[in-house]
Amino acid sequence: MAVATNLEELSIEQNKEKESLNLFLSTQTIIKEALNKLGYSNEIFELLKEPIRMLTVRIPVKMDDGSVKVFTGFRSQHNDAVGPTKGGVRFHPEVNEEEVKALSIWMSLKCGITNLPYGGGKGGIICDPKNMSFRELERLSRGYVRAISQVVGPTKDIPAPDVYTNSQIMAWMMDEYSRIREFDSPGFITGKPIVLGGSQGRETATARGVAICIEEASKKKGIDLQSARVIIQGFGNAGSYLAKFMQDAGARIIGISDALGALYDPEGLDIDYLLDRRDSFGTVTNLFTNVITNQELLEKECDILVPAAISNQVTAQNAHHIKASIVVEAANGPTTLEATKILDERGVLLVPDILASSGGVTVSYFEWVQNNQGYYWSEEEVAEKLQKVMVDSFENVYQTSQSHQVDMRLAAYMVGIRKSAEASRFRGWI
Ligand code: GLU
Repeated sequence: MAVATNLEELSIEQNKEKESLNLFLSTQTIIKEALNKLGYSNEIFELLKEPIRMLTVRIPVKMDDGSVKVFTGFRSQHNDAVGPTKGGVRFHPEVNEEEVKALSIWMSLKCGITNLPYGGGKGGIICDPKNMSFRELERLSRGYVRAISQVVGPTKDIPAPDVYTNSQIMAWMMDEYSRIREFDSPGFITGKPIVLGGSQGRETATARGVAICIEEASKKKGIDLQSARVIIQGFGNAGSYLAKFMQDAGARIIGISDALGALYDPEGLDIDYLLDRRDSFGTVTNLFTNVITNQELLEKECDILVPAAISNQVTAQNAHHIKASIVVEAANGPTTLEATKILDERGVLLVPDILASSGGVTVSYFEWVQNNQGYYWSEEEVAEKLQKVMVDSFENVYQTSQSHQVDMRLAAYMVGIRKSAEASRFRGWI
């Protein structure tokens, strides 16, 4: 029995590693295509196809029962020609090197699209935060910072929250870094609590960014948000705030889902009621009996579909059955490359993840700027600045897709990679 369980775990892990490798390879494929379209040489691709630096660390942590557990962590820095690298740290049992590498490249793309003065970075620790105590998480967070402290810093590489990390974890990490350096360093990390130099609007920034992309995409498609029917797959941080924002904008949310299933009502769901009852991991469908599957939800009649959960949801198998005229990717990699092609051929406007989910890093940049100047902005100022960045970024990617006759994903890669390529050339690296 014990052996069978181990084998099962092994195959889940191997599947995940295969998936991450695919993610990494498909990222490289589109980068190559984007650089070709932009007329860059193969030397630039050779430089940008891999992170410039990848650090693997081992972190010993004293557990509450007195034992010591050694965790593995990563920090990947894709390219620092534009400026310091930037990107989140995820805590997850299935984090692996390939995934962290691919996601650090995505951060360069996001920062390029939104025109932030950063290259991309990403970190991760293999751990199961759902089964760790508060104190164990604190020791792990501090241990990670000690282990990577030589390669990170406010003008080197600036971490932030990601999957299963939050403002409390950012606070511990900032405190540990400040102790090591012996001066207060709020600009070391973003996504902090407001009292420690966090920015207004950071918590809801990703969902706000997605909402702005939906608004812009709807204008292009002639869809009136007041009467639009929206389906959101996933009810975590991005999905749940987004449901609320879309409802406030007058749209009808006719479907939502979590890891256990989906709720669908063509008349519209009561989002406030669902938000009130969701648990801290975003689960709410377990309270209902009339639940459908996530896959069924994706194919339901609607105007706007937002996959805001996990990767590989819209595939060559179901892309022909998607009824929405706009698909906005709030999750990382929810649509496969084959499905992207099918949707594009069918005239569905797809807003790719690296554009749609860039509101988070944009407000992180605002947080870092405020930390550096020691002067803090109101929520309205942050919202106004985010609105401008997202609208300009959307328009830039949309116009690129029109003028080069390419889909929105390739257009986003073209816009996103250009800055790193240009900066590397100006620095004389290529
Ligand atoms: N983890 C978020 C992302 O993937 C935010 C990164 C940041 O704020 O630096 O975009």
